[in-house]
Amino acid sequence: MQNLKNKVAFVTGGSRGIGQEIVRKFVSEGVNVAFTYASSEETANLLASELSNEEIKVLPIKADSSNAESILNAVEQAHRELGNFDILVNNAGLGGGATLYEVSLDDFDRLVAVNIRGVFVVTQAVAALMNDEGRIITIGSTAAERAMFPGTAVYGMTKAAVAGFTRGVARDLAARKITVNTVQPGPIDTEMNPADSQFADFLRSFIALGSYGTKSDVAELAAFLASPQAKFITGTSINVDGGLVS
Ligand code: NDP
Repeated sequence: MQNLKNKVAFVTGGSRGIGQEIVRKFVSEGVNVAFTYASSEETANLLASELSNEEIKVLPIKADSSNAESILNAVEQAHRELGNFDILVNNAGLGGGATLYEVSLDDFDRLVAVNIRGVFVVTQAVAALMNDEGRIITIGSTAAERAMFPGTAVYGMTKAAVAGFTRGVARDLAARKITVNTVQPGPIDTEMNPADSQFADFLRSFIALGSYGTKSDVAELAAFLASPQAKFITGTSINVDGGLVS
């Protein structure tokens, strides 16, 4: 249905959580995928060997998104092994809840380095090696749109930044018919935001549909945005949040 067979994707942070589910979804649609991870080497290698077969290549690459050289090497390796890119998913990101009085400058710099600077470096490098009619999808957050409780200022700032970046890049790449969009999840059950925590009980009270979303809820939207059917959607942010910010 999605017509993604034989496309080439680069996914950051594909070892766990939402990124892993996006890798799985793409592979199920016939996409060859290179994905990065920061430290989960064993998990990343297991995932790649589980999903690779004679027809599909899945390439795990260790590359910390806060390190530009490491990202550029990863992009170069993926391009050498898989060819020109059709799809980029900027998924790697750090969470972090701390109020203005609690957040340290080191925390601030780390969040900015991974959630903003890393997205810029990957996007610039991959776009230069992308086929026309490609797709760029960045995983933002509903925290870009609304601060529902204290402690989201810096994280929300980083996610608002990538939503703004998306709008500008959509204009820059429009002549090549490359679409550029942000997917903004609400609470999704992952190691970053487990659905069985005390915080989750508090958070659920804000969600219109009353429950956490699944990784698959995000991966399905990413796959649709990557598909030819989504060719007229660009420069926008789409929430997948069970009505959290409705
Ligand atoms: P997880 O913490 O479960 O997984 C994060 C993934 O990103 C892992 O594969 C991790 O690699 C990788 N990663 C983390 N830091 C880096 C880095 N510096 N360089 C390269 N890779 C890195 O997070 P989620 O799956 O929950 O989140 C994925 C994205 O979705 C993030 O951008 C997050 O902000 C966003 N999001 C998540 C929500 C949620 O409720 N879960 C809600 C809204 C947005 P490794 O395994 O090596 O650590």
